[in-house]
Amino acid sequence: MKNENSTPRRRAAVVGAGITGPLLSLCLVRLGFEVDLYEAYLRRAQDVGSFLNLAPNGRAVLERLGLADRVLEQGTAAGSITFANHKGRVLAENPERTTNIMRGELSAALREAATGAGAKLHSAKRLVALDDIGGDVWRLGFEDGTRAEADIVLGCDGVHSTTRRLLLPDAPRAAYTEVVGSGGRSRIGAGELPVDGTFHMVFGLRGFFGYQVMAPGDVWWFENHPEPRERTFAELAETDDAQWVAALAERHRPDPGVVRRILTASTGPVGRWPVYEVPPLGTWHRGSAAVLGDAAHAVAPHMGAGAALGMEDAYELALALHEHPSAQRAFTVFEESRRDRIAALAKQARQTGAVMTPNRRLARVIRDLMLPVAIKQGVRKGSEAYSYRPSRWPAQGDRN
Ligand SMILES: Cc1cc2nc3c(=O)[nH]c(=O)nc-3n(C[C@H](O)[C@H](O)[C@H](O)COP(=O)(O)OP(=O)(O)OC[C@H]3O[C@@H](n4cnc5c(N)ncnc54)[C@H](O)[C@@H]3O)c2cc1C
Repeated sequence: MKNENSTPRRRAAVVGAGITGPLLSLCLVRLGFEVDLYEAYLRRAQDVGSFLNLAPNGRAVLERLGLADRVLEQGTAAGSITFANHKGRVLAENPERTTNIMRGELSAALREAATGAGAKLHSAKRLVALDDIGGDVWRLGFEDGTRAEADIVLGCDGVHSTTRRLLLPDAPRAAYTEVVGSGGRSRIGAGELPVDGTFHMVFGLRGFFGYQVMAPGDVWWFENHPEPRERTFAELAETDDAQWVAALAERHRPDPGVVRRILTASTGPVGRWPVYEVPPLGTWHRGSAAVLGDAAHAVAPHMGAGAALGMEDAYELALALHEHPSAQRAFTVFEESRRDRIAALAKQARQTGAVMTPNRRLARVIRDLMLPVAIKQGVRKGSEAYSYRPSRWPAQGDRN
């Protein structure tokens, strides 16, 4: 296990091949680490019907790594994002270039890039145990009874992270945000809505709706609304798709007609999810193991920031591990450089969520009065959030 310079190669076990995990694996392999990437599922039920909007800061990471074209060709660019109230009046526009992409396709493209660079992907490997067995070595145990060892363990296993629970048993659990999200695709008449390269957001009276016309007649949409009672993913899935979209269409009856038009033309599976966030953790690491991405700091999705933050994390943590021979030192440097940014974004996402999905009548009245100002402030904060750009990639890591 020696590299060209005959210094020992560090073995990294990355847990979770969603978005953060594959990108981190790719970065580490390029920097000379030996990487095993463990994933519980090949295809997650949660990914069905679900697309995300990748912000410019995420795109910047992919560009820096030379991956933007090949990964983002799976998606469709939006030249701007508009924000309208429930009467359909456009109150603000964010001229940033973003990309809408199916979550499963983004993940698959990143996994392909990671394995192409030399990371070993092990699927159907659900982490269930993690033990420090001394000598700076960790033993990972999987649900199928198999085991593996690594010098460094990096938990990228999402909002309900098992790595976080095993590594940091006192850390708070993910908290339900009292919001349910849905997403799907609709087919409408080819000329009904223009293919205008715009991601349209509508602050409805009882829920938030977003859509983009991807090609003539092909619309991708998502919806968020308040639901104080927590229901699991499985419980939400008990309602069939037709009933689910009919209920959403009813919910959006007071809003611009385009919302109901799109919802009632929904075809194919409709994804739906209870939305969680991870309260701030005291630390993100113990010894030579750490959590990152949603596992460390899932923020409410109302700023469309989570995936891009995971990409930033992957890039920055790989660089820190490259620069610091001690993993603990690397994790400390990484945490110090990331905490304030993440905390500010989490706060902003929570504030945006309260405006998007007010759950009491009074809150709704106040929301409508303050909406014009709140949206403009949100657009400005969004631009600040998007402004991260990665530093230079080390020359010796350019080879793949
Ligand atoms: C409704 C909603 C809308 C969103 N919209 C946006 C958006 O528009 N833009 C945006 O940037 N972000 C958005 N996000 C956030 C974004 O999806 C997440 O921030 C992003 O997916 C985090 O990536 P990750 O790799 O850290 O975690 P995940 O994508 O959750 O990946 C975790 C991986 O770990 C695997 N795993 C879990 N447990 C184990 C285990 N024990 N062993 C092995 N593997 C395991 C999972 O199967 C999964 O593949 C949204 C989130 C929600 C809920």
